[in-house]
Order: sequence, then C-alpha cells, then structure tokens
Amino acid sequence: MDEMKKLVEQLNDYAYRYYVLDEPVVADAEYDRLYDMLVAMEAETGVVLENSPTRRVGGAPLAKFQSVKHLGRLYSLDKCQTKEAMTAWLDKLGEGDKIPACSVEYKFDGLTINLTYRDGKLVRAATRGDGENGEDVTAQVLTIKCVPLTIDFKGTVEVQGEGIMRLSALESYNSNPDVVPLKNARNAAAGAIRNLDPGETAKRKLEVICYNVNYIEGRRFDGGDEMIEFLKSNRFKVSDYYLLTESKKEVLAALDAIAAKRDSLDFLIDGAVVKINKFSMREELGYTQKFPRWAVAFKFEAQEATTIVKDVIWQVSRTGKLNPLAVLDPVDLAGVTVSRATLSNYNEIKRKGIKIGCRVFVRRSNDVIPEITGVAEYLDGNRDVEPPTVCPACGSSVEWNGAFVKCTNKDGCETALISKFAHFVSRDAMDVEGLSEKTLELLYQEGKIRRFADLYALTADDLTGIEGFKEKKIANTLEAIKKSKDTDLGRFLYALGIPNVGKKAASQLADEFGTLDGVMAADRDRLVAMDDFGEITAGDVVAFWQNPRNAEDVALLLSQGVTIRVKEKKEGAFSGKKVVLTGSLKKYPRSEAKKRIEERGGEVADSVSKTVNLVVAGEEAGSKLAKAQKLGIEIIDEQQFEKLING
Ligand code: NAD
Repeated sequence: MDEMKKLVEQLNDYAYRYYVLDEPVVADAEYDRLYDMLVAMEAETGVVLENSPTRRVGGAPLAKFQSVKHLGRLYSLDKCQTKEAMTAWLDKLGEGDKIPACSVEYKFDGLTINLTYRDGKLVRAATRGDGENGEDVTAQVLTIKCVPLTIDFKGTVEVQGEGIMRLSALESYNSNPDVVPLKNARNAAAGAIRNLDPGETAKRKLEVICYNVNYIEGRRFDGGDEMIEFLKSNRFKVSDYYLLTESKKEVLAALDAIAAKRDSLDFLIDGAVVKINKFSMREELGYTQKFPRWAVAFKFEAQEATTIVKDVIWQVSRTGKLNPLAVLDPVDLAGVTVSRATLSNYNEIKRKGIKIGCRVFVRRSNDVIPEITGVAEYLDGNRDVEPPTVCPACGSSVEWNGAFVKCTNKDGCETALISKFAHFVSRDAMDVEGLSEKTLELLYQEGKIRRFADLYALTADDLTGIEGFKEKKIANTLEAIKKSKDTDLGRFLYALGIPNVGKKAASQLADEFGTLDGVMAADRDRLVAMDDFGEITAGDVVAFWQNPRNAEDVALLLSQGVTIRVKEKKEGAFSGKKVVLTGSLKKYPRSEAKKRIEERGGEVADSVSKTVNLVVAGEEAGSKLAKAQKLGIEIIDEQQFEKLING
C-alpha cells in the first residue's frame, strides 16, 4: 500500500507541474508509464486511493484565475498504444471488417479550450480544469484570431477545441535571442493561455482547432460528422483531416498514414482519436468517471524523453568550427537509444540553461539528430558548461565569431582536415567508394595526404599495410579514385567544402555560372540575387576564392587530371532564360513541362526572384504569380507556353 501511496503522490506532483504550472519535469511517456503502473496496481488490489489520479480528469483550476462551471462536463480520453489493443476495441463494435461508422481525427497535443456562446456572441472561454470546473481565460482567448467572436447560431452553445501553437510559430518565437526558448509547443500553448497577461498569449500566435460541441441548446445532431459541419458553418477552425469509415481496415490504415505524416505537420499531434459517429450509440454507451466509452485515443510513440547530461564535448567540424555535443545517459526514444544530442552553440547552451548533470528534455523526430529542448530539472552538483579555450583536437587557440568558436589552426588542424577529406570523397561530392574516415585518418597520419590533390597521387604502395586493405580492395579503391576524376561542376564545388554551400547551393552555383572560372570570379551582387543565397553565403563564396590556398587546391586537382564536365548548352525558344512554373497546366505535368523547357535551352527555377525571366502560370497560380507581377516579370499562360514549345 505504501508503494501505491508513493506512486499516487508522485503522479499527483507531476500532474500539478504539468496541468497547473505548465512546467512538466518528466516527459509524457514517463508519466504515462507510471500511470499505467498505478492502473495495474489498482486492478490487482481492488484499492483505489481517495486522491488517485485515475479518479479524475486533468488538474484543479489555478486559483489565480476565476473558476467557472462548464455547462456540459468535459472528459479525458481512454487510450491504447498498440494495433492489437485498437483492433480489440474495434472488434467490440462488430464482427468481420464492418463497424458502425467511426471517425478518425488527429489528436492535437495542446490544451482544451471550452468556448461558450450566447445569442451568437462569445461570452466565455475556459480551460478544462477538472472537467466540471475550469479557469476563465476569456481575455487570453480573445487574442486568438481564429476564434470567432460572433457566430450565426443564436442558442447557447459550448464548443470544445484544442489551443495549439504551430511549430513554425514556436520556431519563430524561439529565434529571438532575447527570449528563454520555449521547450515544446504543447507547454508553450498551455502556458500562453494560462498566463495572466493576455499580451503574452497574443505574442505566441496560437490557434484553436475545434472538434466538439459540448453543450447545445435547442438542437440535436445525428452524428459527429453533422456536428463538424455545424462548426464549419459557424466559422470555427476545424481540422483539415477527418475520416469517416465503416471499415476496421480503413481505421487501422488511417492510423498508419497519420503516423507517417506526423513529422511533416506544422503542429504537434500525439496520436489519433477514433470516435463512434452516431449520437444515439454514444448516448447508449455513455461515460466512465473519466472518459467516454464511445471513443479511444491511439497514442503514437513518444518523441520526447528526459535524461541526464553527463558531459558536453566540442567536436571539430571540417570548417574548423567547434560544435558542442551533449553526452547523455542513454535513453530510449521512439525505438532508438539516444546517447548524444546536438547543441547549436555556446549561446544556445546558456539560453536554455543547460548544465552538466542536469536533467533535460530530449526530442527526436524522424531522421533528425536528437535535440535538447530545455532543462527539466536541476540536480545537486550541477556545473556550468565551460566554453573551450583551445581546440580539443589540435590544441591550438580558438577564436570567437558571434556565438561560434573556431579553431585558429585553419589549415593544419588534423581533425578538421580529415573531416574535410571525408566530405570531399563522400557520395554527393567526388563519390570515391572505399575511403572511410578511419582510412583517411591513417593516410593522413602517414603523411600521404595533405591536400585534396594528394588523393589522386596515391599508389598501391601507399595503401598497402592499411588496415582492411588487401590486394582486391586496393585495386578497387584506386579504380574508384580514378573514376571520380570525371565529375561535374556541382559535385566539384560541393566537394571543396565552401562554407554554407551545401549540395543544392553548389548545384545552383554551377547552373548560374556554368563554368569553374565563372564561379571563381563570381561577383557578390549576382550571388546575392540568386534564390536562397543571402549576404552570408554570398560573402562566404567570395571569401573562399580570395584565400589563395583554395585556388591552389583547385589548380592542383586539375593538374592531377580531374575534369569537370560542362553541361551541354541546348539552344531553343528558352535559351538563356530562367523560367518558373506555377499553378497547374492542363496538358503538361510539372516534370514534363520542365523537360520541354530544358530541352529548349531554358533553366527551371523553384521560386520567383529578380533573376527569373519568365513565369508560366497555369490554373490556380498563387503567390508566385503575384510575386512575378510585382517584380514585372513576363508572364505567359498555357496556350502561349504551348506555342513557344511548338516553335
Ligand atoms: P489526453 O491528452 O491523453 O486526451 C484527452 C484530450 O485530448 C482532450 O481533453 C482534448 O484536449 C484532447 N484532444 C485532442 N484532439 C482531440 C480530438 N480530435 N477529439 C477529442 N479530444 C481531443 O488526456 P488528458 O487527460 O488531457 O491528459 C493526459 C496526458 O497528459 C497524457 O499524455 C499525459 O502524459 C500528460 N501528462 C503529462 C504529465 C507530465 O508530467 N509530463 C503529467 C500529467 C499528464
């Protein structure tokens, strides 16, 4: 019993920090794990303590807000986490594949907002609170632009929605160096709404996405779909995703599809909700103390966890920049063990308040290196992260450039050089198979490589004796090196490692200037005018060629027989023209139109800028057309386009 008491107390403390203070100290998945433990314990013993969180919805209203009673009670949702559990829930609704119509909706991860309208006017907005009583947050919600102040419906109605902060809004808020970064969009939204200063709510640019009519006077809905239509017709913002189906398979497929696109959405969802559509069925099934029996939330794998920062190390990049990397107590996150996380720079460490030994939130979305979003809790013995005073790789002194630290040993820092070589031979660059970073390191240590061109002078003798290199591998590697001599300008420029010039920028440079000499003589204004090339990248390109060592590297490479294929110039109706396609063309899919333009000497760009000569506008052309009009660029329609192609 003591164990149960302790668990209840711990969960209540976490819930207080989460619901009341909007400052959780553990990740949701960790809370849920303990909560499930308690549920199991209660089932096994038959004892449910008076203050058990399983008895209640959410948290108590905060005293600083006025408490208000909802007209209709608000509930939490029952949840399941596996396909098996979801199938079992669906199986209760019918045999075989057929079920009574169910909706599948996003489960938005924000804060419930209950909006009360009387005589068509918004009179109150409240949080969910304990389900019966919430906090009056009308002043705060009034700052949220998508919440209608008046509606056509004149009876008393309570509409439930989720207050969310878009991820783009979070990013833009956090990009201000003077603010303490918000840890995640959910807490940011909750903290904004439950903030006594409505000015702060306004700053966070929230939205309320509505999904439920919680109470309504003088009107009955037949089903959830009709209710959503009612919300739409009264101009509430509703989710753009809503599926109604009578098939179990379709429900399960929808869950997969939502999970797959989760990372590309501009807001957080922590799952999907499946709801029986018919209101008559909903009424029959009713509610438990905590949730409706006619709906279930399918929770996705967690993307957030907390763990301890064991150390912060500084890694030398190929440009000599020292990048901080947090060494973490390994933690399981979305099926992967995470033991390192990136930290952008020293200022970011300070701004987020990260210390060695403290517990932090780590977040990971698909394919992205885990990121520390903020401190969960400081612990005894925490210490500040010290910025490096010397390069950890070569011991040279460091210099600061804004928030970034760089090794001053520009052309001699071994680790930076080896990374440069590794980048040079990588697949999207010179594409030399068989030369791993380890091999490059050994070759470097033996003095075989110093400049890029040295790679092309390597002989079988040089590779003999290197770990893993037998006769066949030596021959293959030399062949791969030889093959890589024939390359194109985009790859070559990318391989050289010009700061801030990635794959796309390198290929843009190749397209814009056509030849290596052209790029080497590129003038700043022309660079700045290119799509996605700001002052910084343009400056980096110019500075790169001003360093005689880089020009020398190029000369050495060319003298070793590296040849840069020049794109064959095609002549035709679009010769020398940069064209943007926008809207949809009836006869030509985008790829086809692009091909036709390129075959006739033109180049197709993604976005409209001053350097574009022609815009082909199909149906429903939007912002690109408007921009082209503003810039006075020539615009043609599909018919004129066709005439040009047909000569
Ligand atoms: P819940 O968030 O799991 O589900 C219910 C809520 O889902 C509703 O109130 C509503 O706000 C929301 N919702 C979003 N989209 C919806 C839709 N389309 N239809 C209906 N509802 C929708 O349950 P809960 O009771 O609000 O809270 C439990 C959650 O809070 C858990 O995820 C738990 O991990 C988290 N929590 C975390 C901590 C912590 O310390 N990290 C503490 C307490 C609770």
